[in-house]
Amino acid sequence: MPRTPLIVGNWKMHKTIQETVDFSLRLKDEFAKEKDPRVEVAVAPPFTSLAAAAKVLRGSPISLSAQDVFWAESGAYTGEISPKMLADVGCRLAIVGHSERRQYFHETDDSVNRKAAALIKEGLIPIICMGETLSERQGRSTLSVVEKQTRDGLKGLADKDPENLVIAYEPVWAIGTGHTATPQQAQEVQAFIRQLLGEIFSSRIAQGMRILYGGSVKPENIADLMAMEDIDGALVGGASLDVQSFAQIIKGAQPSKR
Ligand code: PEP
Repeated sequence: MPRTPLIVGNWKMHKTIQETVDFSLRLKDEFAKEKDPRVEVAVAPPFTSLAAAAKVLRGSPISLSAQDVFWAESGAYTGEISPKMLADVGCRLAIVGHSERRQYFHETDDSVNRKAAALIKEGLIPIICMGETLSERQGRSTLSVVEKQTRDGLKGLADKDPENLVIAYEPVWAIGTGHTATPQQAQEVQAFIRQLLGEIFSSRIAQGMRILYGGSVKPENIADLMAMEDIDGALVGGASLDVQSFAQIIKGAQPSKR
């Protein structure tokens, strides 16, 4: 089943409001140069820049994503942001379970699951991140780690209209290290994730779902990754901070290049 490629730029804790505006204007220009863009694109600025990015990107084909969310609708949760607030500011997607949040902020599969459910309920698209650490890969437990993250992270979502949900396979050892997984390594895990999605949802739903790869994606390696059957796009960190390199990654993900 053809799946429209999706490229998401995760800016992490980078860019002020003015830098966000400048970047978004330039990205819009770059995108306008593509006569037939067959790639969906989203940027995930920090919370403080979402409103400014939304203003610039409104009416453009570039979507806005948050980097995280809290599952409650509202309440006494100092510092947190609800799915409704993200929808209100113009987000269409939100990343959940990024390995940095799992590592530094004690995110668990259970919290990932609650966040994903809350996003779907609000009509937003969760990008659910998962992936093994280096020692887990060396210990040959990559598939069991990813299976647990998938089954626990997606628990109960089958009755919640999961069609639009996006998975991002991001081996922790590849994030921000310059060590990209080989296309074959990523394909092996992503085919396994799709098989799990088939068991959890249905094979029809699994075939339509996008599974992104993340971990040191650059203009030089995007085409080889995208050539793989089960790689439907990329979650890009460092290389998404520069408009030129992000635009080249978007170009490299065009289906004609596959
Ligand atoms: C990420 O943070 O999701 C990521 C993939 O980062 P990088 O591209 O810098 O490895």
